Amino acid sequence: MKTPIMGKSVATAEQMSKYLLSKNPNPKIEIPALTLCKLYLYLGALEGVRGDLEFCRSCWETNYFSFTGTVVPEQNNFCGHGTTSSTNKGSYFSDAATGILVQIQHAKAYATADPLNYDCLDDRYKWVKKGSAPYMEDMGGKWAVPGYDTKKYGSLEAANEAEDSYGYKILGIYKAIIGGDKAETENRKDDESMSITKPLSGKKICIDAGHYGNYNRCPAIPEYYESIMAWKLHLLQKKYLEQLGATVVVTRADQKKDLALYNRGAASKGCDLFISDHSNAIGSGMNEAIDYAAVYHLTDDTSVTCDDISKAIAKKIAPVIASVMGLKQGCKVLSRKSGTDRNHDGVMNDNYYGVLHGARMVGTPGLILEHGFHTNSATVRWLLNDANLDKLAKAEAEAIAEYFSGKKVTVDSAASTTTTATTSAVPYTIKVANVKEGDVLNIRKEPNANSDKTGSLKWNDPLKYTIVEEKNGWGKLKSGIGWINLKYTVKA
Ligand SMILES: [Zn+2]
Repeated sequence: MKTPIMGKSVATAEQMSKYLLSKNPNPKIEIPALTLCKLYLYLGALEGVRGDLEFCRSCWETNYFSFTGTVVPEQNNFCGHGTTSSTNKGSYFSDAATGILVQIQHAKAYATADPLNYDCLDDRYKWVKKGSAPYMEDMGGKWAVPGYDTKKYGSLEAANEAEDSYGYKILGIYKAIIGGDKAETENRKDDESMSITKPLSGKKICIDAGHYGNYNRCPAIPEYYESIMAWKLHLLQKKYLEQLGATVVVTRADQKKDLALYNRGAASKGCDLFISDHSNAIGSGMNEAIDYAAVYHLTDDTSVTCDDISKAIAKKIAPVIASVMGLKQGCKVLSRKSGTDRNHDGVMNDNYYGVLHGARMVGTPGLILEHGFHTNSATVRWLLNDANLDKLAKAEAEAIAEYFSGKKVTVDSAASTTTTATTSAVPYTIKVANVKEGDVLNIRKEPNANSDKTGSLKWNDPLKYTIVEEKNGWGKLKSGIGWINLKYTVKA
């Protein structure tokens, strides 16, 4: 699949500038590297062009802003605009922003016949055949001539075939910036590897239990702490998300451990989603009138996809929370812009919530989930019931899976536990779980429910048993007595 020139950026300015500085610690530009990268994203968004890819083009054209070719830094020409030979240096621009906007507009000319959104600053715009190269892969021989190594390849086609022409070089830089193909595939909903039972396979999700220890107690119902609820809920979310095929990481190794807000968000590096679990509070006492669910996301700017993703998932999950919890006031999806100074550098350009800021800085869409108010006694009583938390976690996992798969998803405990279990390395130990009170878990001769019964384990059997082999979701007991269905067990 080819990479369109038009569209929203995936890489963040932070990822881009970090990569640039790793390649060239002293880029010959008059503005800070991070500001330069932000300009690509903002100006790209202005014309609907992927600023992240244009930044990569500039890295290629200027040799990471070291200007080892014909063009000199004073030209503010980061894309070989009008540069034709070692003597013809090409265009000069008054400042970096102008040079970048011209590059963006020039790229748009190749990509599409759509008109420019902003005044045309590109004096060569008129020369380009509009829409002649909508994909970066096709830029060889067009933006750059010949666009391939003539000593290595007999033709442009041969270089393209080897994925070693101009456009591919630029995409190589892009891939290094975003760390592989992850962020790209995330936009490709037609991924055929997505199976129905594992709608989240290939997705990585980071879950944050909002607080540690005993924190935010309900003013009237002393057994409720927001921190304890969040801890239980996040483990259940983890279970269900894993059943749906996701890889799940959590921010806290144990419930008693404190971690800085930013670091918890940043722990989601490489993930497709970050969520932080909470219950809300209003005032210092109880307030029985207020009982809505709230989901917060960031909308720092419109130039990167991670903000769109967090907003879309927020819209999907907020009504689910309100409906499962039966909250009378329903739900709110709330966005927060930058406009705080979290790093105390005197500039109000940091994102509002610390955890979401941390997530965004590593390019992960992030959400804060407020599960009603712990200043409302009906909500508190609801949240104190573990079976309710289980329902909530399951519904949330399904909503997340529906967003990523574009399909209706229901956690099928039997099927998904089976699949999860199939991947385990043996031997390991288990305990009986999920068996109805008073009932037994049958042991059978063969790994299927129709096979002869060779024994049973009680629903409350406290012992650990060793599984030495797995087949179709069944586990063979070490004693050799037979097989048990692993969906009625937990690893112990
Ligand atoms: Zn909280």
